[in-house]
Amino acid sequence: MSKHVVVVVESREGTLRNVSFEVLTAAQKIASGGNVTAVVFGAVTEEQVQQLAQYGADTVHVAQHADLQTYSTDGYTQAFTQVVETIKPDAVLIGHTAIGRDYAPRVAARLGLGLISDCTGVTVEGDEVIFTRPIYAGKLFQTKKVTSGTIFATIRPNNIELAEPDTSRTAQVTETAVDVTNIRTVIQNIVRKTTGTIDLTEAKIIVSGGRGVKSADGFAPIKELADVLGAAVGASRAACDAGYCDYSMQVGQTGKVVTPDLYIACGISGAVQHLAGMSNSKIIIAINKDPDAPIFKVADYGIVGDLFEVVPLLTEEFKKVPA
Ligand code: FAD
Repeated sequence: MSKHVVVVVESREGTLRNVSFEVLTAAQKIASGGNVTAVVFGAVTEEQVQQLAQYGADTVHVAQHADLQTYSTDGYTQAFTQVVETIKPDAVLIGHTAIGRDYAPRVAARLGLGLISDCTGVTVEGDEVIFTRPIYAGKLFQTKKVTSGTIFATIRPNNIELAEPDTSRTAQVTETAVDVTNIRTVIQNIVRKTTGTIDLTEAKIIVSGGRGVKSADGFAPIKELADVLGAAVGASRAACDAGYCDYSMQVGQTGKVVTPDLYIACGISGAVQHLAGMSNSKIIIAINKDPDAPIFKVADYGIVGDLFEVVPLLTEEFKKVPA
């Protein structure tokens, strides 16, 4: 049975985030020939409408209010609750991003809907939509079927394979004013604390350093390798705690959960809390001078050696690979 699916579009500094296209791809699957509405808070450009259409949006619904220019929990919760109440879709999908994780449960609670969070896969079998999600810090995966009512799920970035963009598609744009009141937080300034332009949660390649890098300067070879690979730089909590790098780089149970195609762990022992954030990476390479380090149990490729010798050698070799 075809469905009407609503997704929320996320952008950063005027650029649509990749997770928006992944959520649209999942929505197309669930819609099974039905309609997909992409909801934008604030404003959207013609070029963005075209991009959203190419990835599966039939309608781009702009929810307008002056207080939606920057994210706030109250603003997005109120606005999106109204949008879902108005559109009455069969399914709602949001990226499992920092902000999606914040407002999705609030909207679900207000609408009296169950929420399947942090989904890494979506399949459709006949009329049934089946979500896959990790449990026990990624050690097991469970599948969930919604048998009645409105489907509401958040989708983990970097897990849904993007559909080929269809350049022949177009989308209709609708605009509605939403009522947003009593926002209890005031955003005065946004200070970005990332090491580079690549978002860790969306990165295809991550090079991470642990306590084994020994100092802030010790991150230099890690950053150099990341630059050559076009990768983001991550870290273990021990490296952050020691002041070698910023907490925004922390991967793990209390840091960011990442699923890149390639994760290179340098001088990281592989504590269970670190594995919780990266063990679902498609390929893991571990560089550690201790052959018994637990990280080697989850690694696809292991290099036993001193990271200060191995990482520069890898950088030199990767430099020789044509772009
Ligand atoms: P270590 O365990 O000290 O390992 C350093 C590794 O570097 C060793 O294996 C060593 O052999 C290797 N090494 C040293 N020198 C070199 C060299 N020159 N070349 C190559 N290898 C070298 N941790 C996280 O990462 N993320 C989290 O989100 C997180 N959340 C936590 C939540 C809780 C509630 C708790 C209790 C802990 C959490 N931790 C988290 C901490 C976690 O338990 C570990 O302490 C931490 O992951 C260890 O970091 P590490 O591997 O860098 O350091």
